[in-house]
Amino acid sequence: MMDSRLTLDAILRRASRVYADKRIVSRGNDLAVSAATYAELRPRVARLMNVLRSLGVKPGDRVATFAWNHARHMELYFAAPAMGAILHTLNIRLAPGQLRFIVDHAEDAVIFYDRSLAPNLRPLLERPDRREAFICMDDGAPDVEPLPGSLEYEVLMAEADDAERFIDADENAAAALCYTSGTTGDPKGVLYTHRSLYLHSVGICMADSLAISECETVLPVVPMFHANAWGIPYACALTGASLVLPGPHVVGKPLADLIESERVTLTAGVPSVYTVLHQYLRQHPHDISSLRSLVIGGSAAPAALIEAWRRDFGVPVIHAWGMTELSPVGAVCRLRASMQDLEPAEQLPILAKQGIPVPMVEADVLDESGAPAPWDGKTTGELVVRGPWVARAYYKEEGAPSPLTDDGWFRTGDVARIDPQGYVELTDRKKDVIKSRGEWISSVEMENAVMGMPGVLEAAVIGRPHALRGEVAAAFVVRRSGTEPITGADVRDHLAATFARWQLPRLKDIHFVDALPKTGTGKFDKKALRAGLQAS
Ligand code: ADP
Repeated sequence: MMDSRLTLDAILRRASRVYADKRIVSRGNDLAVSAATYAELRPRVARLMNVLRSLGVKPGDRVATFAWNHARHMELYFAAPAMGAILHTLNIRLAPGQLRFIVDHAEDAVIFYDRSLAPNLRPLLERPDRREAFICMDDGAPDVEPLPGSLEYEVLMAEADDAERFIDADENAAAALCYTSGTTGDPKGVLYTHRSLYLHSVGICMADSLAISECETVLPVVPMFHANAWGIPYACALTGASLVLPGPHVVGKPLADLIESERVTLTAGVPSVYTVLHQYLRQHPHDISSLRSLVIGGSAAPAALIEAWRRDFGVPVIHAWGMTELSPVGAVCRLRASMQDLEPAEQLPILAKQGIPVPMVEADVLDESGAPAPWDGKTTGELVVRGPWVARAYYKEEGAPSPLTDDGWFRTGDVARIDPQGYVELTDRKKDVIKSRGEWISSVEMENAVMGMPGVLEAAVIGRPHALRGEVAAAFVVRRSGTEPITGADVRDHLAATFARWQLPRLKDIHFVDALPKTGTGKFDKKALRAGLQAS
């Protein structure tokens, strides 16, 4: 057989010819919606490659973005890798110190940023030895000045040569770089290759995976600055699915309006987005009848949320698990053939699992001695994975301890069990596990149980140091507005149905709060919760 190259420019070429008229809809900061087609994307990418060349960007250089989900970001997704550079998506919610750390570590040559986000980039200007160029993308933000010395995206595009010059990239060359969000430690860079991103796109499009096909209209709420928006932009181009890029306004009304007006069939993001959207839609009905599936991942989708979307709107939630190191999708939860006729109540606990590894990804669970644990749905251990889109090392961390086991599996740091049907179920992250009296309490299971109470909007559970027991569970609970206010005793009573008495948080460890701190990627910020407990 031919040894053909799996490169991202091949995806673009295919989209522009086969799916020439399919749309990429993009909404700006001012809510103005514009649309382009895959045919129109290609000459824009060709020009942008020439812009990069004129800026002195060379193959292997890092081209950073600091931007919401929109059409120009999509152009960068293709242009940087297609001219041999490495697309580096910066998380716009990073704290100034982390942002400086990452930009210095990656040695970005140029940063493309949304004008509305210019203030967040100012900390970078204070570095005396900064070397990157800034390119401003005007997103219609009122009253925000570009950074001093920036060039303007559309001016550069207008001036650029329009000759299309793809390079013959090696499929194993680096194409993109993402840093882990550092929920549990310092951010680390993960370098993706053309091949790994291509194969990941194929993997997530498969029918038992996210099932992205030409028939779909896909709205990634998951940001393009977080783990490549879970690979959705490339997957849509590969299959010719229409893409709806929502810009910065992704809560409540603007999100509901966009789903309605663009007849979105599939949307994807972290649980908190769809918790808020569900609440909003209950109060403000919209026509969301086009929606065929809701992909939720990044942190555990609570069973109560999955059930609420089914019950109230008839929309199935597809739970997915992944991590930056996996490009990022590793497992997707769909019912096996034999489970299709089960009652909804029997299906729910299965749908709340993280799912079956996507084809090409292998998963296993190791016990404390490092031996494979049985797939009995009971025995927990560290989840390990391997496959063509799993990282084997971190960027510029040569010489650091390997994240792989001796026989080449990537250690995820997640604690999980696998059942005989192949479903992976996460019970915790290694660093979040609560160890009390030498036994484990699953923070994820306890959070899910608390979030199953009608009066609860969100809940996070962490370990609190305890002199005798090592740790005890502490819960932070956000009450749901418009319901009877629940008490700590209610929470304990509810948990007593599924947890042993010694595992229950004590009344003084149940904190009612107005909101939970979230990380830059929308997950519960357990580091902040722990720090808050220590300080109190
Ligand atoms: P960070 O590790 O900095 O949070 P990632 O976004 O790469 O950055 O997060 C990956 C982690 O998120 C996984 O290792 C896992 O702990 C958690 N995660 C992702 N998806 C799920 C899910 N569906 N259920 C539970 N946890 C999840």
